[in-house]
This record gives sequence, structure tokens and C-alpha cells, in this order.
Amino acid sequence: MSSYSAFITGATRGIGAAVAEGLAQKGYRLAIGGRDGQRLSDKAEDLSNRYHIPCLVLPGDVGREDYVKQAFQSIDEKLGPLDVLINNAGISYIGLLTEMDVLEWEQVIQTNLTSVFLCCKYGAARMLQRKSGKIINISSVWGNVGASCEAAYSASKGGVNALTKALGKELAPSQIQVNAIACGIIDTEMNQCFSLEERRALEDEVPCGRFASPKEVSQMVNSLLEAPSYFTGQVITMDGGWI
Ligand code: NDP
Repeated sequence: MSSYSAFITGATRGIGAAVAEGLAQKGYRLAIGGRDGQRLSDKAEDLSNRYHIPCLVLPGDVGREDYVKQAFQSIDEKLGPLDVLINNAGISYIGLLTEMDVLEWEQVIQTNLTSVFLCCKYGAARMLQRKSGKIINISSVWGNVGASCEAAYSASKGGVNALTKALGKELAPSQIQVNAIACGIIDTEMNQCFSLEERRALEDEVPCGRFASPKEVSQMVNSLLEAPSYFTGQVITMDGGWI
């Protein structure tokens, strides 16, 4: 069993919940975030009971600095030194750029990109004290190539990719790894907006012929956590051969 600790943002469901479960299985002490406090508490209770690990619940909006600052203080007090930060929380927005208002734009950027800046700021400050730590950002293939009708989302994930590469360089001398996983299509609530017909069409586009499961992203996260420390500043695409 591991005695490492990890903070996973957006762990109430989907990829974040699967990553939390994968780390709980390995014995990690966890802190999990998300806005839905009840769902988060239920998740934490379930993980604590099944894997006999402490699981700290940190409900709130990860795009806000007051929340992130408080969350890291709670981690210091209740979980101890942080080994792993998984920046996963995110929202999608599908629509024409010309019809998007600035508040909608800001919400996407704040939730998907500012959140990563804030968690890296407070998380890395702690990791730097020990010259040790790993940060994994959950990004998207749209951050690599851009998607029509998802300009804000693509911009936010492109920002996450650039931040990953820059911060990887900045923190490498301090033995802190920063990498990102650029996901293709993962079977989560985020994609429930698609009709069955649209889903089939998307599956046909992917050489693997299907959406990935959140568990597969969790497996990728676990593999990255095992990677040699020389592996940093990288954006790894996991898309079934799609893009
Ligand atoms: P889900 O919608 O299933 O889950 C999103 C998670 O983020 C939830 O736990 C949600 O919790 C949390 N969240 C959203 N906004 C906030 C906020 N402001 N503050 C705190 N938590 C928040 O999506 P996925 O699991 O699919 O997505 C996870 C990540 O993976 C995202 O960054 C997404 O962009 C990325 N991704 C997903 C892909 C996919 O095909 N599904 C493809 C590529 C990337 P709550 O609602 O309780 O706040």
C-alpha cells in the first residue's frame, strides 16, 4: 500500500471519480473536489469504506482563488504533505463563437484554465518546499487541434497544454513533474448531450471504434505516476488513434 497523498479536482463523477478510485485502490490518501457537496461526500464515504483510506471532501468552485487557497490549507491540516495533484475539473461549451457572450467565455476559461493555474500555484508552492511532487492535467485533443463550435473549450485546453509545457520546465530543476493527458472521447456525463445517432457517428470516426472509459484514463494517470522523473512537460494524447 502507498502512503502518498493526492488532490483530484472534479472528482464527483466521470474521469475524476475514476482517477480517485484508481488512486484509492493503490492506498493513496485523498482529497477530492467538486461543486456538488452531497455527491462528493457520498463518493468520499464510498472510497473510504471500500479502500480504508482517508478521503477529505473539498466542495467548491475550483475557478475561484478563495476556494483553492482554503482547499490547500485544509489539505495541509488534515491530509499532510501533497504528493500528487490531478487537475481534472472542467466544463464543455458547444455553440457558435459569434453567439457566445463574455460571461459564458469567462466561465469556460475560469473553470478549465484558471483553475489549473490556481491549483498549480498553491500546489507547487508546497511541492517546492520538499522538492518533490507530480502534477497531471487532464486536457483534450481539442487543445491540440481545435474543434469547430468549441472555440472557448479548445482555447482553454490549448492553454492547459501550454501551461503544462511551461511549468514542466519551470519545476523540473526542483524535481517536480508536470504532464498532461489530452483525451479524445471519454464515456462520461459530459458527452450525454449527444443523441444515439451522433454517438454512433463519433464512434465510427475513432479508429478504436468506441469511446474510452473513465477507467482507462485512470490507468493512464497511474502509468504516468510511475514514469521516470525525466519524463516531464509532456502532453500525451489518448484518443484511440482518432486525431
Ligand atoms: P464530467 O462532466 O463528467 O465531470 C466534470 C467534473 O468537474 C465533475 O466532477 C464536476 O463536478 C467538476 N466541475 C465542473 N465545474 C467545476 C467547478 N467550477 N469547480 C469544481 N468542480 C467542477 O466531465 P468529464 O469527467 O468527462 O471531464 C473531466 C475532465 O476531462 C474535464 O476537464 C474535461 O474537459 C476533460 N475531458 C473530457 C473528455 C470527454 O470526452 N469526456 C474529453 C477530453 C477531455 P460538479 O458538477 O460537482 O462541480
